[in-house]
Formats: sequence, C-alpha cells, structure tokens
Amino acid sequence: MSTLADITSSFRTKPSEKARAAADREVILADPGFGKHFTDHMISIDWTTERGWHDAEVRAYGPLMLDPAASVLHYAQEIFEGLKAYRHADGSIWTFRPQANAERMQRSARRLALPELPTELFVESIRQLVNADAAWVPSAPETSLYLRPFTIANESFLGVRSAQRAAYYVIASPAGPYFAKGVAPVSIWLSTEYARAAKGGTGAAKCGGNYAASLLPQKEAYDNGCAQVLFLDPLEGKYLEELGGMNVFLVKKDGTLVTPELSGSILEGVTRASIIQLSRDRGITVEERKVTAQEWRDGMASGDVVEAFACGTAAVVTPIAALKGPGFVAGDENAPAGKLTMSLRQELTDIQYGRRADPHGWMTRLV
Ligand SMILES: *Cc1c(COP(=O)(O)O)cnc(C)c1O
Repeated sequence: MSTLADITSSFRTKPSEKARAAADREVILADPGFGKHFTDHMISIDWTTERGWHDAEVRAYGPLMLDPAASVLHYAQEIFEGLKAYRHADGSIWTFRPQANAERMQRSARRLALPELPTELFVESIRQLVNADAAWVPSAPETSLYLRPFTIANESFLGVRSAQRAAYYVIASPAGPYFAKGVAPVSIWLSTEYARAAKGGTGAAKCGGNYAASLLPQKEAYDNGCAQVLFLDPLEGKYLEELGGMNVFLVKKDGTLVTPELSGSILEGVTRASIIQLSRDRGITVEERKVTAQEWRDGMASGDVVEAFACGTAAVVTPIAALKGPGFVAGDENAPAGKLTMSLRQELTDIQYGRRADPHGWMTRLV
C-alpha cells in the first residue's frame, strides 16, 4: 500500500477535451441556479481492501461506468459531503472548515462500512479540483462553487457485507445566491407521520439513504405550501430534530439561542457548530438541549420565541416565519426575517467571503 504522503502528492491530471469555452462558461455563471451545471473536471480516487486508496485523478467530468451489480445501486452504500469555494475580492479562492467536513465524512464512512478518506487527502482533492476549475468559481455577491464529495461501494457483488471496493469522487457546481430576490423567510412543515432517522440508525451520517427517506415527507411539505419539512425524534415524536437537510435554531425573547442537542439521529452541521461558536463569542447563551415542538408553538403564541432559523452550507441561514402541521399554523407566514438571524447570517458570510477577520482560522486558501 502506498503511504498517505505518496497518494496525496500523486494526483494525475487528465485535462478535459470537452472543456467549455470561456463565453459559454460566462453564460452559465451569470445565472447558475443551484446544482444544475457542473464544471469541466471531477476527482476520482479508487479504493480496495488490498491496495487502500490509489489512482487519484483530476479528470474530465462525465458519466461513471458502474457494473449493474455494484452494491451502491442495491444497498445504498453511499455517503457524501457538501462545502463551498468562495471567491474573495482580490480574486483568491477559499473554502470553509474543510477539515470538519473531512472528519464528518470519516464518521459517516464508519457507520456505512465504507473506507475512511484521510483528512489531508480530502482537503487535497478539493484543492486539486478547484485549481483545475478555478474559472468556474463565480465572483458576483453571495455566489460560490458548491463542492460535492461522495463515496460509493462499487464492487459487483449482490451478497450483503461491507465494501471491499469503493470509489471517492468530487464534483463541483457553480451556485447563485440562494435567495435570488433577497433573503425571504420560509414556512416549515412539521412531519408527524414520518421520521428521517431511527435510534441506532444512520441519522448522524451524511448518507443518501437518509435523503431517500425524507423525500415523501418533503413532498408533503411542498403540497402544504412549505419550503422544508421538520422532523421530530423517532422515539417519542415530540422533540425537534432537524429539517430534511438543515439544522434548526430558535431565538428566545431574552436573547438565548436554543437548538436541539445532538441526539445520535441528528446530522451535526458545520454551519450549526459555527453559529454556536459565533453566538457564544458575542456572549449569547446557546442551549443545546431537547426542545419539543410544543415549546416552539407555545413560544410563538406567547411571544417567548421571537425568531427561528434553519442553517446549512447551501442556504447558510434561512429565516423561518411559521411552523405548520396537520391542522395548525404557528407564527405569521408573512413575518419579516429576525434581527439576530440576519446578523448571524451576515457575520458568517462576511467571514466566508473575506469581508471580515476570521478569528477561529476557519478559512483555507485553495487558489
Ligand atoms: C448536510 C446536512 C446538514 C447541514 O450541515 P452543514 O455542514 O451545515 O452543511 C444538516 N442536516 C442534514 C440532514 C444534512 O445532510
């Protein structure tokens, strides 16, 4: 097996022969949307039990060749990550807390019986891709290049066991401002029938299977005029867990922030951890504890809960105006975004875009 230093320094680059012309790229970057367009290159690194991680490549973005018996297609042995590259005013390109994503991907890998990619190799893979496709990092305000690392079990074997062959990839997609018309508060649908995770299940791992389980309740949310679904704990169906792909915070009248504690079935967001840190830096009390949906509803009715927001890499911080569920609406769907919500959003994006000092050393320069 090659050493970590060998593989980290051995990326082969095979430039794409189908790279888009600058003019075509600029048309896409002028209005990229989210997750619709992909850059010219991708990363792939193979893994086997015998050889470990090997054959790290920067190659043309394009379809994968998979055996129809590949385990990922049958047993959903897949994990992923999501982070962004940000262009700063001087043209340099940075990413936010990539080590935290690498470590989370290692935890997800352990839970899904997939190989763990070392942190150095994860960060190097991001650096290699962003270097190859630097021209795809947009520069308009609040735009970024969304990076999607993922690992699949690609062994052709229908027996059920942990992977003996896997592959790690990174693809990249330019992202416009999440709120094209300015940050707009959303309504959230409380799912009382479905859970996204189980006790002892994969809720704390970032894996495709969790998302597959969230799509039907997410559709129910849309059908009820809500942007996102909120899940309750799988045991008692009482405590807030998180949205389909974002963590959740409440702001109390006395200025305290409250967020569900990590229960084992909640995904530990890097944005969540960063919001907690920035709030504590300001002297705000942050409670990580069990919160019932009833506490939120009662709090909105009594005025004890004055703001709520969701957070994650894609949308950063999204204000929540109302909580809806079967037969009830709590809050005002037309309420404006909360003050603390918006100032935390501003502080975090200022750090990410290099408009403000980075007191915790969260930013890593890529280009
Ligand atoms: C990725 C994800 C989040 C947010 O995590 P960030 O690291 O902040 O982007 C929250 N919940 C789920 C289920 C997720 O998959």
